[in-house]
Amino acid sequence: MNVLVANLGSTSFKYRLFDMTEAGASLLASGGFERVSEYSPCIEKMLEDLVAEGHIGLADELDAVGFKTVLGKDLSGCVDADDQVLTALEGFKEVAPAHNPAYAEGIRCFQQRCPGVRRVALFETAFYQWVDAAAANYAIPADWRALGIRRNGFHGASHKFIAERTAELVERNDVAERVRQLYVQGPGEFSGVPLRVISCHLGGSSSVTGILNGIAIGTSMGFSPQSGLPQNNRVGDLDSMAIPYACKMLGITVEEAETQLTQYSGLLGLSGVSNDARDIREAAAAGNADAQLANDAMVDSIRHWAGSFFFKMGGLDVISFTAGIGENDVTLRAEVCAGLQDLGILIDPDANAAIRGGKEGVISAADSTVKVVVIPANEELVIAREVFRHVAVGDALS
Ligand code: AMP
Repeated sequence: MNVLVANLGSTSFKYRLFDMTEAGASLLASGGFERVSEYSPCIEKMLEDLVAEGHIGLADELDAVGFKTVLGKDLSGCVDADDQVLTALEGFKEVAPAHNPAYAEGIRCFQQRCPGVRRVALFETAFYQWVDAAAANYAIPADWRALGIRRNGFHGASHKFIAERTAELVERNDVAERVRQLYVQGPGEFSGVPLRVISCHLGGSSSVTGILNGIAIGTSMGFSPQSGLPQNNRVGDLDSMAIPYACKMLGITVEEAETQLTQYSGLLGLSGVSNDARDIREAAAAGNADAQLANDAMVDSIRHWAGSFFFKMGGLDVISFTAGIGENDVTLRAEVCAGLQDLGILIDPDANAAIRGGKEGVISAADSTVKVVVIPANEELVIAREVFRHVAVGDALS
């Protein structure tokens, strides 16, 4: 079965075509377009190229198209990308302005151009459907909650992949299989030995998720991807009183405050140097105190959230690092795990230094009771796998 993964940025369109079987995935083709103002011509050109290169016979000979949708109002999961998905995306277009309108337009374009091809939406919030109400709710009045303001969580595709891969790495096939079937069959009952994982997705956008027996129990991001850890240029967690106070004192509007908090904050705002972790590390090494502060605030926030999940799960078996910073920044990984030997977490410095540049590996010492691992992210592959399960396994069940 071939699955096309469509990655719709607000000004870009990227795609990958996979051949999916029960045994695994192979990449058939990939490509993309930058500075896009309309998706329709890009989709047309992509289909032409896929036919010309012989990957598909006719333009609509795709088996499925997968979309990594971000946030839907009153809708989550891995679902057919039909009208209810479009309504859900439009219902929260103000909350995810860079993502929701782009995906709604892209889905409509595929609907018109290839009406016979199955379209599947995998919401980034999907992995958090089973987080309990105590962790998912903000302490706000009922009419705010009725608007759908709650902790949603994001990076669901990435963290779910980590849930499955960590279980495989510690030879817990019962948990890995539970994760594989999660969006098709739900979590069901679990009576095995507990497996407690903390997943750190650290990149341009970052989050930490606690995963118990393959299911997320909480995550650092909340209502929007604006919260949790300091992001590249987004603020992360902030006391709500800071916004009206800053508006009054700086004489700015709420919209201006939003722009500052979504574009000029986070690592960029704190460091004053860059939104890129490599530049910040370099500036800190050269003695820039603000750059050092940005790095330290990121490390502190990762430890804050990881500590919370350690407590909630009553301990820990595996901690995992993924995405650009998590896969490459050896120093940051060591800083996150420093001084935790009494909790059973001990990094092997040589192993840590050796795993970077897209490699997978264990970086904990032999006598660390918690396994510390690095697992490369591959978002398109994750989406293709979920779409394949949704279509193939879902059809087999119905
Ligand atoms: P991502 O969003 O997963 O592509 O990650 C982007 C982030 O990863 C940027 O902040 C980069 O600075 C960071 N990154 C990429 N390579 C490295 C590296 N070798 N060392 C530290 N950070 C890195």
